Amino acid sequence: MAFFNMTIAEASQQMANGSMRCVDETGRALSLIDAADAGLHAFLSVNNNGALRRAEALDNLPVSEKKKLPLFGIPIAIKDNICTKDIPTTCGSKMLENFVPPYDATVVEALQNAGAVIVGKTNMDEFAMGSSTESSAFGKTHNPAGKNHIPGGSSGGSAAAVASGMVPAALGSDTGGSIRQPCSHCGCAGLKPTYGRVSRYGLVAFASSLDQIGPIASDVRDIGRLLEAISVADERDSTNARKPYRDDPSYYSTDIPNLKIGLPREYFGEGLSETVRRPLAALLDRMKGCGAETVDVSLPNVNYAVATYYIICTAEASSNLARYDGVKYGHRSTAASMLGDLYTQSREEGFGNEVKRRIMIGTYVLSSGYYDAYYLKAARVRTLIARDFEQAFTACDVIMSPVAPTPAFRIGEKTSDPLQMYLTDIYTVSANLAGIPGISVPAGRSPEGLPIGVQFMARQWHEGTLLKAAFAAQQLSQ
Ligand code: GLN
Repeated sequence: MAFFNMTIAEASQQMANGSMRCVDETGRALSLIDAADAGLHAFLSVNNNGALRRAEALDNLPVSEKKKLPLFGIPIAIKDNICTKDIPTTCGSKMLENFVPPYDATVVEALQNAGAVIVGKTNMDEFAMGSSTESSAFGKTHNPAGKNHIPGGSSGGSAAAVASGMVPAALGSDTGGSIRQPCSHCGCAGLKPTYGRVSRYGLVAFASSLDQIGPIASDVRDIGRLLEAISVADERDSTNARKPYRDDPSYYSTDIPNLKIGLPREYFGEGLSETVRRPLAALLDRMKGCGAETVDVSLPNVNYAVATYYIICTAEASSNLARYDGVKYGHRSTAASMLGDLYTQSREEGFGNEVKRRIMIGTYVLSSGYYDAYYLKAARVRTLIARDFEQAFTACDVIMSPVAPTPAFRIGEKTSDPLQMYLTDIYTVSANLAGIPGISVPAGRSPEGLPIGVQFMARQWHEGTLLKAAFAAQQLSQ
């Protein structure tokens, strides 16, 4: 179910020329949220008044101004770890329950400059740690395609908001798959850009060397348009490469002669369910029918990707989350009388179990006695994984892979076994470790009717190639 029965570019154009009105479309998004979100819980806060005021102001602009704005009047939802001025930004955590940022993240500013309307903030795993949106301190989100199933995570709220048609687009963040995996489970498209493409200024840090913000939408063309809008050069993030993405209509065709699709043998072996393998194989046949070629490639070190990722991301998280001590940032306990107790009590009350687990693992792998055995080794393996991809891309343009080993699992199925949950990230974490872009697009459904996505990955800065493959896949899967 899509919010518009046209692309964002077309809707935006219609609003600019007056055949649709921004207030009507924003009003429609707000009523859909009002009607449907009680059953899904995709939103943590809704910007009712702010959004309508903004839409009215947009409708009052001169037509010549309206036409310059690439996202004119488009209602957008934002993951709740991305700072929005005067709108709560909780990160799905009690620690930040009362945080109202005094500034906008660069991506939010960029969306506003492009004419978008921020309609609300979406639910997520606490501090983006998780694969199911079950670790939010404010309740779970349900999958719109099957209410007893998880929507994926950690950007489960954003994916569910788009897939259910409450909004045409959303932003998520992806540290190890948190955009791609929920999009695969809910049935929409989501992109993790090249590391450094999109500014992280105003994104609450989880693991700084892996985090990227990216767009979620129903159509791959919308993804390109949104990426162009948010990938502005930004001096406020020292890891921003200042390489804005330029969209190009030539990416969007099913004519894909000589597109070389690499199939890593490590990704199609053991552990992948038949339910996921089947639609991917069918899609591949159709892509070959449109001129694509397939190449067998190998990524010998990806078997270590999950272990490497969970060492690096926990190490960085333990450091990034040290600031939440009830004094510098975050929830302050009223139960403590001494300073030391204040720190521990505030963290004890403010953080949930998964966040505490990660801080403990991260502190352990960085401790002086274990640093060489864990963190340093993981940093080295990370380089080997990045090299595996470089090598593979000498033989192909894009790599095709599953997004997750199975369709969305049931709510509660993996909460008591964190390791099982971590293992479901097997196909997504490598793109973050290597800093390359990855996209998930719907490829089919399970016999139960649950969506199944396909992932494409490309070389750094080659989002264009990625969108080309993804658009063809989208058209051929319909
Ligand atoms: N599921 C992964 C984790 O739990 C990825 C999270 C993310 O990308 N933010 O760390």
